[in-house]
Formats: sequence, structure tokens, C-alpha cells
Amino acid sequence: MEKATQKQMRERLENDRARLAEQVETIEREGYEALSEASGENNYRDHMADQGSATFDRELDMTLEENLRDTLAAVQHALSRIDEGLYSICERCGATIPDERLEAMPTATLCIKCKAEEESR
Ligand SMILES: [Zn+2]
Repeated sequence: MEKATQKQMRERLENDRARLAEQVETIEREGYEALSEASGENNYRDHMADQGSATFDRELDMTLEENLRDTLAAVQHALSRIDEGLYSICERCGATIPDERLEAMPTATLCIKCKAEEESR
């Protein structure tokens, strides 16, 4: 990967990292409701006051927070791979991951072949 492209990818990942860290922090502090309000999502769940939906809300919070944390970890991992000069190297077979793949999926750590094999297991 060209240095200039790598710099662009780093900037993209750093932006993602900042945004994700902020979202995780918001959920920790105020719960999912605050996040959906902040992002301007239509929030109808306030009106569903029964016990069932409250439980559902908590579960949704957990899942969302987990997803955000996973994504954040993947972004941080990608950034450390850039730092180590390993960004384009497949973690499984050592092949070069094509730029197009990394541009489409900046957190990719495997070449398409290894990814397919991993998913078929
Ligand atoms: Zn591979």
C-alpha cells in the first residue's frame, strides 16, 4: 500500500476510533437512549413503559455496547497494524491484502481467501 493511501486509512480509522469511543462513553454514562437522541433517531421506546420493554432495552444496551466495543477494538487493532507496518499483511497466511479490500473494510486483518476459509469453518 502506498504511503499516501495508508495515511488516508489511518485518518479514517482515527476518526472512527474517536467517534466510537465517544459513543461507548455516552452509553456508559447515560444509556442507549441518550445516544439515539444525540443521533437524532426517532425514539418511541420512552412510551413503552411496560416491564417487558424495559428488560428489552437493557438487553439492547448491552448488545449495542458490545458491538461498539468490538468495533472499537478492531479499529484500534488496525491502527496498531499500521504502526507496525503490517497493515496490508494477512494475519493468517502473510499474503498482501489488496488496497481495495482495506478501503472497503479498513479493519480487515485477513486476505479474502483466509476470510472465506475462516467463515466456512
Ligand atoms: Zn491470508
